[in-house]
Amino acid sequence: MTQYSVTSDLIYTMTNVDGGVGVGGILEKKYINVSDKIILSVSGKPEFKHIVDYGKTRSILPAMINSHAHLELNQLKSPIKLPEIENNYHRHFDQWLQNLIQFRKSSTYNSIKAIAEARKYFLDNKGTGAIVDIVPFGVDFGGKNIGDDILWLRFPEVIAWDSKTVKQKIKQINKLPKENFDGLSPHAPQTVSGEVLEFLVGCGVTISMHLAESADEIQLLQTRDGKLLNMMRRFDENYDPSKVLVGRRAMDYLKLLSRAPRALVVHGNYLDETEIQFLAKHNQTMAIVYTPRSHDYFGFREFPLKRLLDAGVRVFLGTDSKASTPDLNLTNEINHAIKIHPQIPLETFLQMTTTLPATFLNLTKDYGTIESGKIAAFSLIKLPK
Ligand SMILES: [Zn+2]
Repeated sequence: MTQYSVTSDLIYTMTNVDGGVGVGGILEKKYINVSDKIILSVSGKPEFKHIVDYGKTRSILPAMINSHAHLELNQLKSPIKLPEIENNYHRHFDQWLQNLIQFRKSSTYNSIKAIAEARKYFLDNKGTGAIVDIVPFGVDFGGKNIGDDILWLRFPEVIAWDSKTVKQKIKQINKLPKENFDGLSPHAPQTVSGEVLEFLVGCGVTISMHLAESADEIQLLQTRDGKLLNMMRRFDENYDPSKVLVGRRAMDYLKLLSRAPRALVVHGNYLDETEIQFLAKHNQTMAIVYTPRSHDYFGFREFPLKRLLDAGVRVFLGTDSKASTPDLNLTNEINHAIKIHPQIPLETFLQMTTTLPATFLNLTKDYGTIESGKIAAFSLIKLPK
């Protein structure tokens, strides 16, 4: 049985939290006593002879929860290169999607290898407790545990817009063995028909969907026209937006998603005020996932983080994929986000990666705080000055 005590000058236990929302406990020079991979206690003196002391170099946090990733793209060494326009601002989102689809069709792409590599990455770079991963549909990648202390939450991605594929997909989802997935991920408004979406929200599982990500998407919804329509027509010359899209606004999608037990709305960069208010009203079952470095890679308009938080919307952090961010390290996402949003306190970012997603995703038995009985999985961070 492995027993040790671990300490640092600063430990964020994230406990003493007001209904899972408030600022977590910050302890100075306490000891987390670990026995057989479980936290036994947090005390003023070490319980065990073997002591790991991070001193001033690192603070200890609960292992973080990455609320949005695509491990299947982990073979990409760096984000997809795109021509820069308008002084580095606003890159071609439709072109990025097209390049990504090309990569997926290339001989380099191998989702099984990519996920195996990503799993190794998480084992070698400790600090992640759980990952909400959008996995290719219909591939069985194995169990939901990575090592002893990391949960891999598998959300098969659903893409189906024409009536033939829609029927097939619904049959396939009905046949998916329950133990092979933890949620379902309709890709985005333009790639999933209303019929499939209705079916998915009725499946009784957590849904994760990209929504209101780009101005092109909002344009497609409002006018049934624009760059995204052209892109869809390149895949399918018969693509008919009026048969695929649900309504004219992101709100129509939010209303649909609110019928799922829980919904992770990924990005939400272009939500309007009434849509933000709707998410705030449904904050027990709906949350936004913000992916800071990926957001800036695309040059989307500034993410309305303060507005969302002030309104009472639940916001979590994710990395997104290596097609738009350099690595899957949430600490790097926090350090980046702090620079972009200096008015948001560090503790808020820490909640967005620990207690809040743990509560939302029902993971508090093992994750979210440093407390006795939980898995001894920690994140070590060098806090920004
Ligand atoms: Zn994504």
